[in-house]
Amino acid sequence: MQLIDGKSLSNKVQISISKEVEKLKQQRNIVPGLAVIIVGNDPASHAYVSMKEKACKKVGFYSITHKMPEGITQDEIIEIIKMMNNNPHIHGILVQLPLPKHIDTDTILEVIDPKKDVDGFHAYNIGRMVTNLDSFVSCTPLGVMKMFEEYNIDLEGKDVVVVGASNIVGKPMAMLLLNANATVTITHIYTKDLSKYTKEADIVIVGVGRPNLITADMIKDGAIVIDIGINRLEDGSLVGDVDFENVAPKCSYITPVPGGVGPMTIAMLLSNTLKSAKQFGENI
Ligand code: NAD
Repeated sequence: MQLIDGKSLSNKVQISISKEVEKLKQQRNIVPGLAVIIVGNDPASHAYVSMKEKACKKVGFYSITHKMPEGITQDEIIEIIKMMNNNPHIHGILVQLPLPKHIDTDTILEVIDPKKDVDGFHAYNIGRMVTNLDSFVSCTPLGVMKMFEEYNIDLEGKDVVVVGASNIVGKPMAMLLLNANATVTITHIYTKDLSKYTKEADIVIVGVGRPNLITADMIKDGAIVIDIGINRLEDGSLVGDVDFENVAPKCSYITPVPGGVGPMTIAMLLSNTLKSAKQFGENI
C-alpha cells in the first residue's frame, strides 16, 4: 500500500506557484489577487478562509477577505461581488460556502465574473468543463486529478466509483474522470446498494461527510481509494469517510485524512488564481 501524500504534493505545487508569481511580478508587474467573501460565524468556514489567506500570503498573492455578518442581505453580497468583478487587482473571487439560508447560493455564484471564478462553481465554467474545454475547475476534484497525475495513476478504461454527487465535489469529479476516459459510476444517498458498486471498482472516490462510510468489505484488493470527506469527531480529531485503518491494507494507493485531498484543494485554488492573473495579464 502506498500513501498518496497530499501535503507534500501541495507544498511542491505551492513552491512552483511562488516562483511563477515572482516572475509575473518582475516581468509584467502583476500580483495575483484573491478576494474571499465569508458570511456569518461558522467556525469551520472561518478556519478554511484563514488557511486560504495564509496560503495566499505564502506564495506572494494579494488577498482581501470580506467578513460579513450573518444578517447581510443577498443584494449586499451581490454588490460586493460586483465591486470585486470590477477591481483590476483581483483575479479570483471566492464565496465561502455554505451561505446562510436566506441567501440563494445559485444566484450568488452566477454573479461572479466567470473569468474570476477560481472555485469553478459558475455554470459557465461547469459547462465548459463538461465539454472538455479550458475552464476553471472546482478545486477539490482538480486536486484529486493532480494526485493521479503525480503518482502516474492511469485512468483510461478504469472502473471508477464516485460516492457523493454534490455540485462542488462529486459531479465535477465524475466529469473530470469521464474526460480522462475512465468508466464512471456516480453514487449518492439514494443508491440502493452502495457496496455492489464499490466492490467492483478499480478506484473509489468518496466525498460524502460520513465517518466510516467506506469499510474494508466494500473495497476490492488492490483498489485505489481517495477520501475527500472531512469530519470533525467529538474528541476534536479529523477523519474522512473511509475506515482508514482497515481499508488501507487492501489498497494499492490511499489518501489519508488529514494530509490528503484537503491540502490539494488549497493548492488548486492558488493555481486557478495564478491562471486567472496570467489570463488577465495577456489582455492588458
Ligand atoms: P454535500 O452534503 O453537498 O453532498 C454530500 C453527497 O453525499 C450528496 O450527493 C449525498 O447524496 C451523498 N451522500 C450522503 N449520504 C450518503 C450515503 N450514506 N451514501 C452515499 N452517498 C451519500 O457535501 P459536499 O459539499 O459535497 O462535501 C462532501 C464531503 O467532502 C464533506 O465531508 C466535506 O467536508 C468534504 N469536502 C472536502 C473538501 C476537501 O478539500 N477535502 C472540499 C469540499 C468538501
